[in-house]
Amino acid sequence: MAKLVSVVVIGGSHAGLAVSQKLLRQTARAKITLINPSDEYYFNIAAPRFLVKPKSLPPSRYLYSIPDAFRDYPADRFTFIKGLVTEIDYATKSVSVTLAMNSAGATTTPPTAASFGFDYLVIASGSTTPATLGQAGVRLPFKPTAFEDTRKAIHEAQEKLSAAQRILIGGGGPLGVEIAGELAEAAGPKKVTVVSRTSVLLEGATAPVQRTALSLLHRRNVDVLTGVTVVDAVYEAHTQTWTVKLSTGRTYTVDAYIATTGTIPNNAFIPKSFLNAQGWVNVDKELRVLDNGVSRSDTYAIGDITSYPYRLLSRVPLQGETVAANIVGAIEQKGQVATYSAKAQKKMMVVPVGQSTGTGHLGDWTLFGCLVWFFKGKDFLTYKGPKFLLGQSS
Ligand SMILES: Cc1cc2nc3c(=O)[nH]c(=O)nc-3n(C[C@H](O)[C@H](O)[C@H](O)COP(=O)(O)OP(=O)(O)OC[C@H]3O[C@@H](n4cnc5c(N)ncnc54)[C@H](O)[C@@H]3O)c2cc1C
Repeated sequence: MAKLVSVVVIGGSHAGLAVSQKLLRQTARAKITLINPSDEYYFNIAAPRFLVKPKSLPPSRYLYSIPDAFRDYPADRFTFIKGLVTEIDYATKSVSVTLAMNSAGATTTPPTAASFGFDYLVIASGSTTPATLGQAGVRLPFKPTAFEDTRKAIHEAQEKLSAAQRILIGGGGPLGVEIAGELAEAAGPKKVTVVSRTSVLLEGATAPVQRTALSLLHRRNVDVLTGVTVVDAVYEAHTQTWTVKLSTGRTYTVDAYIATTGTIPNNAFIPKSFLNAQGWVNVDKELRVLDNGVSRSDTYAIGDITSYPYRLLSRVPLQGETVAANIVGAIEQKGQVATYSAKAQKKMMVVPVGQSTGTGHLGDWTLFGCLVWFFKGKDFLTYKGPKFLLGQSS
């Protein structure tokens, strides 16, 4: 039997899972090594709901075992490595990995290193946020945490948000509006203020959608300050409050400051020659990585880490199909080439404001509140988690 072609996939979230599952289904000639610092897939899309209303969604609806999702494949076809890639070495065509301690944290053995060779490499290391890293405001796991226990991080965030009565949200984008809508419905007295740098909420959405978001929040007694930025936010340990200074000169004292802005590329291990000025990976239309502007035939990138500006889950399935088709085409020498066009994907925004309503648009079509509830608000898309886990979402 011919030697299997080795494909290493870096990152086991929506994008890395999509491409791994599709490759396994589409060719029997590849061996996939999927590397991710956690062995759980985190359906972070529902974070605004379960961080604020823990009882509304149990962890089984947003955390899934990655190894279990590949249990049908033998070890010579698929290996999961719980670790963090620290370097790509093209001289030896291998990646260096710091291996994680076991997930229960029962071992005191320090993390060890290993390396894995590849014929093809897929970079799906995504992005993180200042709030996820605890760099701004209350620490909230909006994206997967690295080696830390995601369940613990979620639980701590839920406790903090539950206890907070005065809350200031920095950012009037979809995440800021969604969190505000959930907090306005949460148990206990809460005074919520949203601060938006732009003169409207939901920048980039159509004007009717922006107006509806504002009106829905006002109706829920949420204060919205537009054209204002957060200049500084400092945690005062002795009072357990945040002092938040705004560009208007006003200072707020709150129990929780929630930073919803900022997207940081997970690129520490990626050669600088792959990155644009903002740190995202340049790709061509076949999603091959551009190394100093030249397409690499052995390396692809997919998902948030690419230089495509709309970092959305809705972009992942088509990108996954493109990368899988191109790797299969190369392995089986079929000469097929699939291309990805971000423009061909319709612009959409679906923003629940609380459990039963919200706003949004699909292209130029405005979505009524009941449709937002139906598409997203009722369960924050958690029904899609198993599909993304199995690379079956379209
Ligand atoms: C709160 C929130 C809500 C959102 N809601 C929506 C929505 O409703 N609709 C929508 O379309 N989009 C939404 N998004 C955007 C969506 O989450 C991203 O587009 C999506 O997560 C991108 O998936 P990804 O797999 O490319 O990257 P990520 O989800 O960022 O995953 C990257 C993975 O790579 C791992 N990794 C990082 N570095 C390394 C390394 N060195 N070695 C190994 N593994 C590594 C990470 O741990 C992680 O598991 C939302 C984002 C947030 C923060």
